[in-house]
Amino acid sequence: MRSAYAEMARKRRLPVVPRTAPIRTEEPVRTPERPVRGGPHALDAAEGPRGVAEYHGPVSTQQRRELPIVEQAAAVHALAVDAHTAARIAPDVASGPPLDALGRRLHDLRISVTDRCNFRCVYCMPKEVFGKDFAFLPRDQVLSFEEIERLARIFVGMGVEKLRITGGEPLVRRDLPDLIEGLARIRRPDGGPLDLTLTTNGAALRALAQPLRDAGLQRITISLDSLDPDVFGAMNGVDFPVSRVLEGIAAARHAGLAPIKINTVIRRDLNEASILPMARWARDEGLILRFIEYMDVGHSNGWRMDDVVPEAEILARIDAEMPLEAIAPNYAGEVATRWRYVDGSGEVGVIASVSEPFCSSCTRARLSAEGKFYTCLFAVAGHDLRALLRSDRTDDQIEAGVRAVWRLRDDRYSDLRTEATTALPKVEMFAMGG
Ligand code: SAM
Ligand code: SF4
Ligand code: SF4
Repeated sequence: MRSAYAEMARKRRLPVVPRTAPIRTEEPVRTPERPVRGGPHALDAAEGPRGVAEYHGPVSTQQRRELPIVEQAAAVHALAVDAHTAARIAPDVASGPPLDALGRRLHDLRISVTDRCNFRCVYCMPKEVFGKDFAFLPRDQVLSFEEIERLARIFVGMGVEKLRITGGEPLVRRDLPDLIEGLARIRRPDGGPLDLTLTTNGAALRALAQPLRDAGLQRITISLDSLDPDVFGAMNGVDFPVSRVLEGIAAARHAGLAPIKINTVIRRDLNEASILPMARWARDEGLILRFIEYMDVGHSNGWRMDDVVPEAEILARIDAEMPLEAIAPNYAGEVATRWRYVDGSGEVGVIASVSEPFCSSCTRARLSAEGKFYTCLFAVAGHDLRALLRSDRTDDQIEAGVRAVWRLRDDRYSDLRTEATTALPKVEMFAMGG
């Protein structure tokens, strides 16, 4: 049966918004027919996410190669990261942004400043698992602001152009504006400014929006899963009032942070009914709303495919009331698909990493609060940069280690997701940096 959204797409001949070239791979991977993003196949996916449950090929190159990569990287990191060793492993070490094994450059770095959080979102840190007794990182194991800034400079020197501060909940880290001030001073090798942003649950934003703006933060992303107080309270796990987050959003606007983006994770049967109210509200408020498909991050949220509301279904619901048309990405590799209201009243986006994976254009790395370097959101292990920072290694030696790890990267978890990969002991998102 053709969905209402697919019918709409057919009538309107929506533009095709291709992602990037397919990934190069050395082994045959029986990936089901890959819909062209934004094209007619993508729209047909309203019947359910495709390319996921049907895949029965080798579990994943990531799973198979994770440990060897970690071991190789560990050899570089822990034993002797000297420029000579790293240069041997990564002959391109000296010049330009590093490319990984699949030809993807290192462009974005997400920096977690804490693994702690004042929420217990059901899809991230369920309170039944992360209760009062849960042991978060002791203070001395968390990177200091100086250490974070040093690493940020090294990454920017290698070609990273975008820094996103995250966590856990970044606003629970004391004196965060001081860190922002230091990061905002960093310039790219060509002298241009960085794209510096932050993702927060908004709980403490009413007080911190202005200090963050004054420190040099340009824009912000605020997570908000529903405007309904009961639904929001249930999803954040601590009955945090939605009114306080709305005050935080108002404070961000007042402080001049722009654009303001809103992240909304949709989980079947929990907040599906919030899709339309969120879309109407964001459009009326002039905010850029991005729905996120519920992901199997970590290993504690009890993820099931049945709980995912796929992009096409989210769009179909909105389109039925507020007709949509596809618009081109702002830049190559943009994570969210973009859709404009036909009446010109704004836009909405979807991050569809389950139904429409975008590994082929993934240029993101993550640095955890304890200084581990992760090359994929679904990694089962990271690479210890803190040990290097706290040794006598020079910046060049640390850079050589990072380049070596990136060069070996072949992560593409979402492309290869199966029931089996879902059960892997993946690092939790709040621990790695979302
Ligand atoms: N605490 C901050 C926040 O919630 O905005 C920053 C960290 S949080 C891990 C980063 C983003 O990941 C949030 O927008 C959150 O909604 C999203 N997220 C967390 N768990 C998720 C999951 N299982 N599926 C999809 N998105 C998730
Ligand atoms: Fe905390 Fe953000 Fe995870 Fe929610 S999504 S529990 S706010 S880190
Ligand atoms: Fe990037 Fe890993 Fe997500 Fe694929 S699964 S888009 S490689 S973070």
